[in-house]
Amino acid sequence: MTGRLRHYVCGSTVHDTAAMFRGGERGIRTFPSGVFLYDDIDNGRRVLFDTGYATGEWNTGWRGSVYRRLLPPTVDASDDVAERLRSDGIDPASVTHVVLSHLHPDHGGGIRRFPDATFVLSAGLLRSLDAPRLRDGILTGLIPAWFPTAKKIVLGEDAFSPHERAGHELRVADLFGDGSYMVVDLPGHAAGHIGALVENRVLLAGDAAWGSDLLDVADRLRPVPRAVQHDYAAYRQTAALLRALADSGIRIVCSHDARGETELLG
Ligand SMILES: [Zn+2]
Repeated sequence: MTGRLRHYVCGSTVHDTAAMFRGGERGIRTFPSGVFLYDDIDNGRRVLFDTGYATGEWNTGWRGSVYRRLLPPTVDASDDVAERLRSDGIDPASVTHVVLSHLHPDHGGGIRRFPDATFVLSAGLLRSLDAPRLRDGILTGLIPAWFPTAKKIVLGEDAFSPHERAGHELRVADLFGDGSYMVVDLPGHAAGHIGALVENRVLLAGDAAWGSDLLDVADRLRPVPRAVQHDYAAYRQTAALLRALADSGIRIVCSHDARGETELLG
């Protein structure tokens, strides 16, 4: 396969890990908001995984004010996903597909930069976007007015089929039919939460855990962070599966991992 998988940081937030996990070490940790571009332009594809925080004004009403007070983002103009791509020599208009793991504000804030892309999302996510409840954590003010009519690939239950990798069974949807980019069902964190297995080697896990080093402590979440998971039992099961895949040599990359390098398939 011929692609590159590039990592960019589009804003960040901070948490005290001891407030998130029982037995966690006290300390403020920065959680960058990662986006990932699978650049396979030889085959006519540039596939972006998530879009980071929105830069500039957020016109998101009281829900947005509450969100920003609870989880204050650090975002400046250079954190904009379009800027990040441009400064790496990539025209945002050349992005062919945008995969949305889920629509929390640190993942969907840059959707507005890709009016011509085809969006890839689960039917579960689309349902929660159509009728968002407060606990879904979707700020509809960040979603552009054109989004309902944007080109979309909506993956329903029947789009996923079993895929064995390193002795473990995943549920995947092979996006291009050639195994280069498989969307993976990773339930638990948000309604219809998905990841992506790229070139069968790197698994972009979205918010299946706050960090790939935190998969082990998914069962030690304190009550508040537990309550914001869509389905905590599924969250724990997904974390256990990812842990087992990591032990089998699959590289697991969570959206809020700190990464020193840019190229993830190298
Ligand atoms: Zn999230």
